[in-house]
Amino acid sequence: MVNMLCLGIEGTAHTFGVGIVKSDGKILSNFSKTYVPEKGGIHPRDASQFHAANARAVLDEALTQANVELKDIDLVAFSQGPGLGPVLRTASTAARALAISLDVPIIGVNHCIAHIEIGRLTENTKDPVTLYVSGGNTQVIAFDTGKYRVFGETLDIPIGNCLDVFAREAGIPHPGGPKIERLAKEGKKYIPLPYVVKGMDLSFSGLMTEAVRMTRLKKDLRDVAFSLQETAFAALVEVTERALAHTEKKEVMLTGGVAANTRLREMLQVMAKGQGAKFFVPPMELCGDQGAMIGWTGILAYKSGSKQKMDETQARQRWRTDEVEVTWREK
Ligand code: AMP
Ligand code: MG
Repeated sequence: MVNMLCLGIEGTAHTFGVGIVKSDGKILSNFSKTYVPEKGGIHPRDASQFHAANARAVLDEALTQANVELKDIDLVAFSQGPGLGPVLRTASTAARALAISLDVPIIGVNHCIAHIEIGRLTENTKDPVTLYVSGGNTQVIAFDTGKYRVFGETLDIPIGNCLDVFAREAGIPHPGGPKIERLAKEGKKYIPLPYVVKGMDLSFSGLMTEAVRMTRLKKDLRDVAFSLQETAFAALVEVTERALAHTEKKEVMLTGGVAANTRLREMLQVMAKGQGAKFFVPPMELCGDQGAMIGWTGILAYKSGSKQKMDETQARQRWRTDEVEVTWREK
C-alpha cells in the first residue's frame, strides 16, 4: 500500500487519545481527553471508566478533524503497555473492536518507544539519546543493535510523580509540575536535598520526602521548589550526559510531560552543547501522551513486517522498552 492510514489509540494513564497518521508521516489529527482525579492521585479503575465513556467521542472528533471516515483506515495501532492495567485493557479492547469490525490489521505499540518515534519524526533527529520524563515514566533511552536500550531509569517514583506528590503535600493542586516551576523561579536559596544517582539509575522518593519535610519546617516554599528542581534535574542531566558520552551519539531529545519545564530544558541544552550534541524538544502537544505517536509507531512496525494475531494483543502492564525488537531501524 503506497500511503496507508493508521488510527492510533493511546490509553496508558490519564489520557485517552486517538491520532490519525499517514504513512508518509503526516499527522492528520490528534485528539484526546484527560482524566483529572477529583482529589489525590490517579485511580486506575476510575481512569479506565473515564476512557471507556469518552472513547466514542474522542474517536469521532479525531475522524472529523482528519476529515476521514472509518472505512478509510488501513491499520489500527494501540498502546499495549506499559501502563495501568485497567486503562490498558480499555484501550486494547477498543482497538480490537475497531480492527475486527473494519477487518484491518492490529498492532500493539510500546508507549515509551512511541514517544521517541514521534519526536524522531517531527524533529527530524536521526539517533538521539532520549530523556523521557513524565508522570509515569523516567528513562534515559538510546538505540543500540536492534533495540532501544535503557541506559538509566528511576528505581522508585518517576520525576513527574515526585513533583506532583510534593505539590499535593504542600497544598498545591494537581498537576504540581507547572506550579512548582513558577514557584522555583522565585526561589533564591538552595536548600541541600538528597541527590541520588546509583550507577546509571535515579531515585526520587527520598528527595520528595525530604522536600516535604522542609515545607513542614516552614522553609520558604519558593526555595524548596527551587531546590527540588535543581536537585532532581541535575541528576537527570548527569545520567543523560553519561549515556551521551558512552554512546557517542550527537543528539539529545527531551520528551514527556515534564519536557514543558524551561529550567530542565536549559540545563540539558547547556550539557548537550558542552558535549557537542544537538538538543531537541518536540512541540509540547507531541511530548505528552497522545494517539498520533501510537499511530506513527504502528506504521513503522507494520511496514517493517510486524504482524500481530488477536491473541497477542493483550495488555502488557510492565512491557519494557528494551524488550521490543525494533524492526524498523537498521541494526
Ligand atoms: P504526562 O505524564 O506525560 O502526561 O505528563 C504529566 C506530568 O508532567 C505531570 O507529572 C506534570 O506535573 C508534569 N509537568 C507538566 N508541566 C510541567 C512543568 N512545567 N514542569 C515540570 N513538570 C511538568
Ligand atoms: Mg507518556
